[in-house]
Amino acid sequence: MYTIVNGVKYNISGFVHKHPGGTTSILHAAGRDATNLVAAYHADVGSIERVLRTRCPHGPIPAVAPSSAGEKDNFYHELKCAMSTYLRDRRSDGKATWAHCAMVATFGAATAAIWLAWWCGRWWAPLLVAPVHWLFAINTSHDASHFAFSRTPWVNDCLAYTATPFLYNVLPWYFEHGCSHHAETNVHGQDEDLHHSFGLIRYSPHAEWRWWHCPQLLTVLVGHMLFTSVVLALVYPVLNAVDAHLGTTLLFPSVRNKQHLNANLWRQSLLQWVVSVATLAVPFLRYSTSMAAYFTLTPWCMASVIFTLVTQVSHLQQECFEPPHANAEADRHAAWYRRQVESSVDYHVGSDVCRILTGGVNVQSLHHLLPGLHPCHFTGFYPIYAHVARKHGLHVRVMPSFAAAFCGFLTLIRKNASPGHSN
Ligand SMILES: [Zn+2]
Repeated sequence: MYTIVNGVKYNISGFVHKHPGGTTSILHAAGRDATNLVAAYHADVGSIERVLRTRCPHGPIPAVAPSSAGEKDNFYHELKCAMSTYLRDRRSDGKATWAHCAMVATFGAATAAIWLAWWCGRWWAPLLVAPVHWLFAINTSHDASHFAFSRTPWVNDCLAYTATPFLYNVLPWYFEHGCSHHAETNVHGQDEDLHHSFGLIRYSPHAEWRWWHCPQLLTVLVGHMLFTSVVLALVYPVLNAVDAHLGTTLLFPSVRNKQHLNANLWRQSLLQWVVSVATLAVPFLRYSTSMAAYFTLTPWCMASVIFTLVTQVSHLQQECFEPPHANAEADRHAAWYRRQVESSVDYHVGSDVCRILTGGVNVQSLHHLLPGLHPCHFTGFYPIYAHVARKHGLHVRVMPSFAAAFCGFLTLIRKNASPGHSN
């Protein structure tokens, strides 16, 4: 098993189980060039390279140039220094604070109570399951899947599963979100978020237009928003299993390290899938068909709508597709930090309420630059980040509200429905 950092190929087979950040996180880097990933998750890339050089067999890759500026990038270096100072002043390790833990414990208790009411057949429970569970999951699972919740790997591994049953299955989530979307944001053919509708929706103006894209505004509003949960929690794990066992590429063809992650997480993914199926099937064993449909469709459809609303607006904006550089292959990596800033929009940046409602993805650009920093630090650190970014000439895209971001998202979807629209 290998990884590539700054043009050097390391055999990490013997190091995987000794990685201080846990095996799940280092397996994200397996089988590919992980320079940007390593830079994003560690304070100092130089020290990580020293560790790799002393503990892993390695050698240069002749045809591959160093792919990232890493710590040599002045903007990123200054941002990390600013973050270190900010956290040191607050005596924080950058992970979830005790106040945040108390808050999510409350959300967790509320989630357990609402699922109990759902199990007991209370008529109002299906209406509350999705929003209450969302608050719990988005403030635990997303952070944990970025290893940002805790410095203890097993805590992150466990909390990632709070997305069960209807937000996403963790294994394909690691592929789509951690390995693809965060590494290659808004790059056509590389960012699997742009391709998760199986070509039904033309998210990127760089994608080829097809006749079925004409009504895609309707497709997004009705189909996509209602069935997102089913696809993420039920369909993706099945396709993923087919790929793993038959060697096909039905899902996420750009992700090249599926086998490594599968070996580690396959059983948990299956268990999660069984729980998802059970929440859909059990009401049909207990109630009449119409009652069972109410108890299953309501939470799943509401979860789809909430998930789509919150997660899709931050990158799917016209200006987020304008390449900041010429975007030649060699330049694409060098411009990684710039792309993380300029391929996102942020909204309600000073609001802790919005940060909690969205799990911090309202300040998407900061999250993409520092995925290992817990979102409970975002509101306070954002002005410092924006100052550093603007000082280095980067365009931090701040929208006045969620409504403005949502309108921008709809405008892009509508424009991409037309064959003439591209960047
Ligand atoms: Zn993320």
